[in-house]
Amino acid sequence: MSHSSTPPIVRFAPSPTGRIHIGNARTAMLNYLFAKAAGGQFILRFDDTDVERSRAEYADSIEVDLAWLGAVPSLKVRQSDRVALYVAASEKLKALGRLYPCYETADELDRRRKRMQARGLPPVYDRAALNLTEADRQALEAEGRTPHWRFLLEPGTETWTDLVRGESHIDSASLSDPVLMREDGTYLYTLPSVVDDIDLGITHVIRGEDHVTNTAVQIQVFRALGGDVPAFGHHNLLMNQQGEGLSKRSGALSLTGLREAGVEALAIASMAVLTGSATSVQPVQNLELLQDLVDLAHLSRAPARFDEAELWALSAKTLHAMPFADVALRLADRGITGDVSEAFWDTVRGNLERFDDVDLWWSVATGSIEPVIEDAVFLAQARDALPAEPWDNTTWPAWTTALKASSGRKGKALFHPLRLALTGRETGPELAALLPLIGRARATARLSAHSA
Ligand code: GLU
Repeated sequence: MSHSSTPPIVRFAPSPTGRIHIGNARTAMLNYLFAKAAGGQFILRFDDTDVERSRAEYADSIEVDLAWLGAVPSLKVRQSDRVALYVAASEKLKALGRLYPCYETADELDRRRKRMQARGLPPVYDRAALNLTEADRQALEAEGRTPHWRFLLEPGTETWTDLVRGESHIDSASLSDPVLMREDGTYLYTLPSVVDDIDLGITHVIRGEDHVTNTAVQIQVFRALGGDVPAFGHHNLLMNQQGEGLSKRSGALSLTGLREAGVEALAIASMAVLTGSATSVQPVQNLELLQDLVDLAHLSRAPARFDEAELWALSAKTLHAMPFADVALRLADRGITGDVSEAFWDTVRGNLERFDDVDLWWSVATGSIEPVIEDAVFLAQARDALPAEPWDNTTWPAWTTALKASSGRKGKALFHPLRLALTGRETGPELAALLPLIGRARATARLSAHSA
């Protein structure tokens, strides 16, 4: 079962029943980066066989979210378009005697499970339906019952070397024969997933550890259908600070919501894949660098706690380290263009909590603000001492050194009124870098208490 020689093909397979959250981003990005690191392919598969709960708008939002994270799939498929393949596979399994009709109602199964538990037995399906004769089945159908269909598990232990968890095994005796098809002919998740994995040549199935128990069943379905069994990797799940799992239905920590609130995509990507890993969560400049930090084999097996405050701090750090070239288009989208835009970015990025804060600093640097006047006499004196242009990074130290000597002020008494008048704020970027962007005309007006 070696796949190392061929480039991997992986898939991210969300059901479009809600907006994806940071926990889903963990699965998506672990898959994407795994494929990318090895020159492989990343496929997006919508598990939308549940027609009641699947929505086209959720599928659309998942695509937008993935594109925002930078995980653009090379192929996109929908299970609802592929039902013919599942029908063919189920016919094949029936012909092989691996898919058999069962007529129990949910109530009957429930009573049976309770009886077994009361006797201290594992609540495994007793395969009573296998003993039905053709005549029994006809009688049940004449009563108006329609069958659901179970996959006949082979006895024995399924083993696999999990990419995350290492040697893993599940004894099929501990499992009920899984239902693959419902009474109404629709498919549960198991069969379509395996059929698609075979059809799309998936080499590595990387998903949350809530799917570990499905793996033994799926390995048997792969074999029964004559498909290559892929490698499996099951990562731990992200929990919130209260230790609860994240849910798509609640919409909490959805990627859409985090994006709208102003979190950087690269911060989400980094936090999604590095939380609970051997490498600490850190700002990264791009996905190429992140891909080198991911190591499935060293993901912790304990549930990983996710802290939103940490995400915001990481998002700010990500901005602080972001080179101009990576942000030029986003700046241009907000009208921040021209010769000074690079100097502007380098001056203000270290002060950004979120990207939107650039608007404020762009007004300070090139637009109009309301100066805050603390000491009009001193400010007039400072205005009169402004050097002639051209200005550069030496202007501020030269000007304030002269002012220190002429006014006798120093420290906060010297700098604070100047900052308030020139920027309208208590804190902000280095004035040595900002002042040349503001320029002499604007500085003169602001020091004179005029908005400019
Ligand atoms: N639709 C399944 C889920 O979202 C996919 C599981 C898998 O990757 O096999 O959990």
